Amino acid sequence: MRHTTTSHALFQRAKQRIPGGVNSPVRACLAVGGEPLFIKSGRGSSVIDADGNKYLDYVQSWGPLLLGHAHPAVTEAVTRAAAKGTSFGAPCEDEVLLAEEVAALMPALEMVRMVNSGTEATMSALRLARAVTGKNALIKFEGCYHGHGDPFLASAGSGVATLSIPGTPGVPEAVVQDTLLAPYNNLEAVAALFAARSHDIGAVIVEPAAGNMGLVPPLPGFLEGLRSLCDTYGALLIFDEVITGFRVALGGAQARYGVRPDLTTLGKIIGGGLPVGAYGGSRQLMEQVAPEGGVYQAGTLSGNPLAMAAGLAALRVLKTSPYPDLEQQTETLCRGMEERFAAKGIPVRIHRLASMFTIFFTDRPVVDFASAKQADAARYARFYQAMRRRGILFAPSAFETAMVSFAHTPENFSATLEALEGIEPGELSPGNED
Ligand SMILES: *Cc1c(COP(=O)(O)O)cnc(C)c1O
Repeated sequence: MRHTTTSHALFQRAKQRIPGGVNSPVRACLAVGGEPLFIKSGRGSSVIDADGNKYLDYVQSWGPLLLGHAHPAVTEAVTRAAAKGTSFGAPCEDEVLLAEEVAALMPALEMVRMVNSGTEATMSALRLARAVTGKNALIKFEGCYHGHGDPFLASAGSGVATLSIPGTPGVPEAVVQDTLLAPYNNLEAVAALFAARSHDIGAVIVEPAAGNMGLVPPLPGFLEGLRSLCDTYGALLIFDEVITGFRVALGGAQARYGVRPDLTTLGKIIGGGLPVGAYGGSRQLMEQVAPEGGVYQAGTLSGNPLAMAAGLAALRVLKTSPYPDLEQQTETLCRGMEERFAAKGIPVRIHRLASMFTIFFTDRPVVDFASAKQADAARYARFYQAMRRRGILFAPSAFETAMVSFAHTPENFSATLEALEGIEPGELSPGNED
């Protein structure tokens, strides 16, 4: 039995001074019951909690750590940068190098603006899209999450889905009035919205492979269809690649699916584990951003030297990393899990894309938020607890994606399958909550 007395004590103290004891809601583990683990350190594929327990980690900070925890090249870059000063509020060389690196990997981003989070990236991209089109309405998809900016908090995924928050108090009606919702993978719904409001829809924002309602890849033709509807109606297509960028392919989902967005938002991997986001697109669009253009957007710590050094180091390592091998290993893991669930008579649909996967506890197809919500989230919670008892961490919510890193080893994968095999079917049945 793992003792988590230190995590428990820290959580009690945290709850006194931090809302819910956490600085981002899903971490509180409310959706899976039980309490969060406080993490003391991480290395490669694993983390160690405040009580000294070691866990194999499929969260990987929710996506940024495609190289695993504390990758030596990233750690070294950050340490070197820190010794030279942590922030200047003036340009530094690594900003240029990182922007050049991003442009080389994603040709649709001729110019890039660095920000501090994915949330900032999507807010800024939307402002730019509204400015250049002169149209305010926005189409977003149910279950997609684009950070916590006001206009995106209508039927959002991730923590909003986990906690079943319909929207959120504090967001004025007027702000979400221009947010039009469509089901993911449903082109007809998008076409109908455009037909009804062609004069005022300036942007369509989409996770090109959805990761925040669990992993739901685009059906064939979906992204191409969005591209052509945007072209027809003069709206900008924004790919939110905060998760998929540099993960589903080095060039992101836009490279993998061969669809070119007008604007792209990045986060997570681009910071190598430090707080970075970015948005970019054609020179013509990005030249509208201040100070070159009139669309204001700024940040005291944007392009921070530590963050740039970390992101640059991560991308440089990723450029020579064996993506096909990682994808193959993840596929083998998923097949192995499917077999073990089948042997227990537990229906699952495991979605995988490159090094991400989600286990949906359902025997029905999942193509959008409505079908994702039909999966058995209570069973997922029991699965989460059963694996955590065995030293393996999955995301503490059914509406998330497991992240495999280049640091995960064949031994890690066998250990995962062995742990799963050791779960009694009853452990995943009602009445076994912690
Ligand atoms: C995580 C995420 C965001 C928000 O990024 P933060 O850095 O948490 O603000 C935006 N979009 C997508 C697709 C994400 O997964």
